[in-house]
Amino acid sequence: MSDQRVYNFAAGPSTLPLSALERAGSEITNYRGSGMSVMEMSHRSKVFMDIFQETQDKLRRLMSIPQDYRILFLQTGASGQFSAIPLNLIGRTGKADYAVTGNFSALAYQEAKKYGKINLAADTGDRNHSYIPRQEALKLEPDASYFYYCSNNTIYGTEWDYIPETGTVPLVCDMSSNILSTPVDVSRYGIIYAGAQKNMAPAGLTVVIIKDGLAGRELPYTPLMMNYQTMIDKDSMYNTPPCWCIYMLGLVLDWVEENGGTAGMEKLKWQRANMLYDTLDASQLFTCHAEKGSRSGMNVTFRTGDEELDARFVKEAAQAGFVNLKGHRKTGGMRASIYNAMPVEGVEGLCDFIRAFDKNH
Ligand SMILES: *Cc1c(COP(=O)(O)O)cnc(C)c1O
Repeated sequence: MSDQRVYNFAAGPSTLPLSALERAGSEITNYRGSGMSVMEMSHRSKVFMDIFQETQDKLRRLMSIPQDYRILFLQTGASGQFSAIPLNLIGRTGKADYAVTGNFSALAYQEAKKYGKINLAADTGDRNHSYIPRQEALKLEPDASYFYYCSNNTIYGTEWDYIPETGTVPLVCDMSSNILSTPVDVSRYGIIYAGAQKNMAPAGLTVVIIKDGLAGRELPYTPLMMNYQTMIDKDSMYNTPPCWCIYMLGLVLDWVEENGGTAGMEKLKWQRANMLYDTLDASQLFTCHAEKGSRSGMNVTFRTGDEELDARFVKEAAQAGFVNLKGHRKTGGMRASIYNAMPVEGVEGLCDFIRAFDKNH
């Protein structure tokens, strides 16, 4: 069955490591002698609690998460965190800084405005979010409760290549589409969060990594399920956590570990991305949306400049086994999402296809 798999360039949910899928398949009706599927277990059973704990431990190890950070496994979707973050954090000063560099940070910014005074620290909308602002360009408020940004812009295909310097203001980062793709100094952050369906697991799990001391000052009307302190106190089990996704995350983390951890992922990331950007840059036909120096290693956005030709590219690529290359309507053209689990051979094949298409048009 696995040899009929396509190269899936979807932005999310997206391709997962084959070994994790096969492992899940082999355990699907009887998880390691328990006589039942992980889908059927009580979240409070010993066998599931072990999965839960091991998955947390693996993530802590792989990301070198310091001991004074909690790891939460939530169900809010990344979008739920657009609300949870201001609700939990803005109470300190009533203000926050937001860098808007794409679709999801713009949504987070709009949502945060309901709860306090939000300073637009940067806005790259002037050039259709094709670049990342440099540190000197960030307009910082010294009494912001936190500084918010999104480290990889999934739709526009740009990625921050530095961690913003904000003094004593805690950093909050949406890493949904590049978490685990590179080693990260977690100690620089107040909160890192990510929806799982890009680089970690199936949709339904949201991982929040939060430094001790940040929770517990939520606005009084914070919904119960968005209260970080509640989830910390209950170790993410105030209610039923997304058990299956947590199990799948564990299997994906095994694969990350077997492939050199986040350093190994980073090597593969730029091997894939550089190959693709070099091919596009060398072509006559294609241009990239993201400016050089801001290009994402995870989502490569490009176009021919002719909508009909773009559509033809997407269609013919799919026939050749490279699927889900249609770009988001905000950028048009094409987008190749090349997350951790995308095999290098998939990108090699896509590059060959691009070269042939370029030659023929
Ligand atoms: C996909 C994505 C989101 C939205 O995730 P949901 O889980 O669908 O809410 C938010 N931020 C980024 C960077 C994303 O890539």
